[in-house]
Order: sequence, then structure tokens, then C-alpha cells
Amino acid sequence: MSRALPEGLGVEGEPHLPGRRQTVSVDVGGVRIGSRQPVVVQSMTNTDTADADATALQVVALAHAGSELVRVTVNHDAAAAAVPEMIRKVRDLGVGVPVVGDFHYNGHQLLAEYPEMAQALDKYRINPGNVGAKRRDENFQTIVRLAVEHGKPVRIGVNWGSLDQALLTELMDANARSPEPRDARDVLIEAMIASALRSAELAEATGLPHDRIVLSAKVSGVPDLVEVYRRLASRCDYPLHLGLTEAGMGMKGIVASAAGLAILLQEGIGDTIRVSLTPEPGGDRSEEVRVAQQVLQSLGLRSFLPQVSACPGCGRTTSVFFQEMAQRIAGYLRDQMPAWRERYPGVEEMRVAVMGCVVNGPGESKHADIGISLPGTFEEPVAPVYIDGALRTTLRGEGLVDEFMAILDEYVEGRYGAVAG
Ligand code: SF4
Repeated sequence: MSRALPEGLGVEGEPHLPGRRQTVSVDVGGVRIGSRQPVVVQSMTNTDTADADATALQVVALAHAGSELVRVTVNHDAAAAAVPEMIRKVRDLGVGVPVVGDFHYNGHQLLAEYPEMAQALDKYRINPGNVGAKRRDENFQTIVRLAVEHGKPVRIGVNWGSLDQALLTELMDANARSPEPRDARDVLIEAMIASALRSAELAEATGLPHDRIVLSAKVSGVPDLVEVYRRLASRCDYPLHLGLTEAGMGMKGIVASAAGLAILLQEGIGDTIRVSLTPEPGGDRSEEVRVAQQVLQSLGLRSFLPQVSACPGCGRTTSVFFQEMAQRIAGYLRDQMPAWRERYPGVEEMRVAVMGCVVNGPGESKHADIGISLPGTFEEPVAPVYIDGALRTTLRGEGLVDEFMAILDEYVEGRYGAVAG
């Protein structure tokens, strides 16, 4: 049963963080999801899970990119049989990321028939719309009992593309009989929420503890996503997994996901997120992890990578020198982070400004930790460098980019190396 926590109290009676929706906290293989915890980034493989080598390598790549949970599909016998070996390979490569199994249609059978797989996974994702029409509740309860037996949490993940049709029909019929019928969209949103909450209630009645349940209710349109999650958040204290399903490819997928997630996260709704991007053929699956991190960092919720503020450039910058420098610095910071993260704690919060001319350059540079303002067209060919708000030096000539990088390295060592030492 969902329950409301007393006003002003969070998990286990501790004060909750202002602005974050109060939820219980769920432990997924050592990663905690819910109130007071940072919003968790997750992703999902697109390899055939039966191919233990390929899947293990992708899980490791996603974890190295920053995914804090990785989900794999478990869709048939060969996939179920390969899961324990795949997870062993991941651990042998020194990666401890929790691995979540995604089940549809036959999860009740696979989890029962492959107990080693059921034990090896850190969480099960169940779609209540895809557990069978005739024996829906029975199959759902079988999965829940296995989760209880193996001590695993469950995400009840409703998706509007596979919404429980019997439930939708029931609510549509009730709406049609109502003296003031609501529009179909409204009923569909209510059906998604009802599916999630009724399933959670059934899971708890079957023995799953309240703090082992995460909910999601994904749709593919931003306004609907916001509406579904606002309503869901107001009616329960389960942690919520956010994501726009079928977000799409490239810029469309990134912008739509960011738009939807940002609204909800800004309202304190959402405890874990995934950006469901369709990669380009042969593209890098880890892109979805980097986008999710950037969404959280842009909202000031978490820090993963030093941020480069660069102006867009205009008629005052008539060469590509400025764009190339901004790109080179951003790439350098990203490349250094695996080593810097260990060596320089806090460096992920550093702000670097790369500005195109004197109009906003010095001002923006002063607000950053370290910044450079290049000379615009017809300006004196000098580039002032600011550190911690004060003019440090003025660079000029062909080698100014290399000189700035050297100053940047020196700054990182001096400011963040001291913390490590
Ligand atoms: S800082 Fe200068 S170059 Fe950059 S957009 Fe503003 S006016 Fe243009």
C-alpha cells in the first residue's frame, strides 16, 4: 500500500531535502534509489543477452560512461541461461554496477526455471501489461514471490504502448457511464496510474516489502509524461523512474527527453532517469548516459564533468578559431575525467569559460573558475585569462591555446590536487 510520510520527515524520520519529493528509499544492489539520494542514471543494453561476451562488454562500457544501473532484456531461455555468466564476466572486469533484468510475457517462467539468473540479477522490471491476459495476476504474483524469495526489488514499469487492455477498457466503460465523462487522454493517463498503483498494491499484498518497489509510467509525448508523473507522484511515496519512452533518434530524442525530464526534476519528481535514445546504426550506446548526466548537471542536481561556458559567437568572431578552441577544451576535459575523478576530487564542479570577444568575455570569465576571452575581429589581439575572478595573465599569438591548457592543468593541480593530498 502506498502511504504518505509525515510532513517534514523523510526516510526513517530524517529531514528530507527541500524541494525533493519524499519517497521511501530502495536498495538496488548497493545503489539506493529514493529520497535524499542523488538521482540515479541508468541505461539499457541493446545486445542479445544470450551473447554473454557482447552483453558484458556493453554493460561495462555503459558503466564506465557513468551508468549506475544497467538493464538487460531477459526474453528467452538462452538469455536467461547466459545472465549469470555475463554478470561474472562484468565482475571479472572489475565493474560492480547493479544489473537489472527486463521481463515481458514469460518472466514468471524464466525466473522460476533459472534460479541462478534470478539470484544474479539485482532487480526485476515487470511490465504489468505484459504478464499474460488470462492469468495476469497469477503470473505477476509468481514474479513477485520469486523477488521476495531472492530478496530483490522490483520496478513496476507501465508503458502506454503495452498498457493493460482489460484495465483500460474497464476505466473507459466507467467513464462512458459517468454523467460527466472525461476526455480519452485523461482516462488513458488515469489507466496508467491505476495500473502502476494497483500492481504495487498487489505486490505488497503478495509479500513484497514497501521499500522494494520502484514505479514508472512511460509515454512518448512530453506533455503526457509530465501529467502522468505529476499525478503519480502525488498519490504514492514509491521512488519513480523517469524517462520518455521511444524518445527517438539524435537531436529530437535528446531535446524531447531533456524537456520532459527537466520539468519533472525541477519539481522534485524523479529518483532515477533513463534517456531512451535510438542510436545511429553502429552508434555509441553510451550517448544516452552522457545525455542523462548532462540533464542532471544542467539542472544543478549532480556534477559529472567540468562545464564549459562558451558564447555562441557572432559577427565579432569571423574565424573558426574560437569554436575550435572551445571544442578542444571540452574534449580535453572529458578525456581527462576518468583519471581526474580519482586524482582531483571536486574537479567535476569546475566551470571553464571560453568566450569569443570583449563584449561578454571578461564578465563571463570572472564568473567561471577559469576563463579566457579571445580577441574579436578588430580588437587588440590579446586574450585575458581570469582565475577565480581575477585577471591572471594575458596571452597572445599562435600558441595561446596550448598556453591556456597548461594554465588549466596547473589550476586543476593547485586547486583540486591539494584536496586529494
Ligand atoms: S561574447 Fe562577443 S563574440 Fe561571443 S556572442 Fe557575445 S559579442 Fe559575440
